[in-house]
Amino acid sequence: MNDKNRQEENLIIIGGGPGGLSASIYAARNGVAPLVLNGPEPGGQITTTSELENYPGFPEPIGGFELTQQMTEQAENFGVRLKYESAEEVDFSGDKFTVKTEGGEYIADSIIIATGAEPRTLGLEKEDSMRGNGVSYCATCDAAFFRNKEVAIVGGGDTALWEATFLAKFAAKVYIIHRRDKFRGAKILGDRVKDKENIEILWDTEVENIKGEKKFEGIRIFNNKTDEERDLDVKGLFIAIGHKPRTECLKGQIELDDHGYILTDKKQHTNISGVFACGDVQDPDYRQVVIAAGSGAKAAIEASEYIEEKENSFPAKEVKMKNHAAGDEAKDSSDTAKKEEGGLSLSLSLD
Ligand code: NDP
Repeated sequence: MNDKNRQEENLIIIGGGPGGLSASIYAARNGVAPLVLNGPEPGGQITTTSELENYPGFPEPIGGFELTQQMTEQAENFGVRLKYESAEEVDFSGDKFTVKTEGGEYIADSIIIATGAEPRTLGLEKEDSMRGNGVSYCATCDAAFFRNKEVAIVGGGDTALWEATFLAKFAAKVYIIHRRDKFRGAKILGDRVKDKENIEILWDTEVENIKGEKKFEGIRIFNNKTDEERDLDVKGLFIAIGHKPRTECLKGQIELDDHGYILTDKKQHTNISGVFACGDVQDPDYRQVVIAAGSGAKAAIEASEYIEEKENSFPAKEVKMKNHAAGDEAKDSSDTAKKEEGGLSLSLSLD
């Protein structure tokens, strides 16, 4: 490895979705100069959500992509550096941590993992092109767009059952399409959907295809026992067949739960001192932007403290921050960082 490609960093944040960006903002304000490895496309899962109505501070719905852009701009105003590279391999065995990307090798005092989780897909032909346009993987995000309309949800686990109940508050009718004749999810959730007047359960049923060329026009379903086919004239298809946390690059380096999510404590610490995780990669239950952002803030506060207390940590990089008070850019980071130190100790002592 050419030394030119070996970069020393205080803090590397792997992932540039709401969890990673929120962590970067908090870390930068704490005087750390984080480097975010963003992956080839910025923003994470949220960029695939057409509009968010439930992120506080936005009385009008905001597009997922637009929210990411604003978070990114906010991070860059604090001097956060973003690289459009993906972590391919990590080594957490030493006192310093190594992250390899296609572009080089990074050595860091501390790491925050914010790689997210992706919804499992059915693999239907138009599933990807209709995403955000009739096909959704998040009822909490999109249910309100289907007020008084008929929708279908695929899956028989806790998520599908919980989301079906949530959808039923908005939609005129909800079809649950499940491939077996028994739910996988908790009995209490199953009983709840069975009691709802506007929920119909289609057992032993699968989706054959999505109808419509450019515009979503319903689905074709089939019974996998009788082979009987029929069209469902629904306006939306929700897919809730599980999520896959993105932990491929961590291979055997960190403790995961049975479903592959990173195990963290309440303060976002993993089993490795100095390595933290936030957002959906450690959250099998909620998968919400606001929660990812909150856990990112916690991870950054913890990582900043860890770096401050570490004896041989690398010096923080000099970065340019936008000086909000002056309305222009600060000459270097040190002045601004000093100004920000008061903010850090205040927030930590309040915690
Ligand atoms: P699960 O893996 O539990 O369930 C996935 C469901 O999707 C199953 O019913 C499965 O069918 C179905 N499925 C999978 N692949 C396909 C496919 N290709 N075509 C059709 N159907 C398919 O995932 P969940 O997201 O529901 O839950 C994940 C974890 O999160 C669980 O441990 C759950 O308990 C937890 N959770 C907890 C909640 C809580 O309130 N605490 C809320 C939500 C989730 P089959 O049953 O036939 O395998």
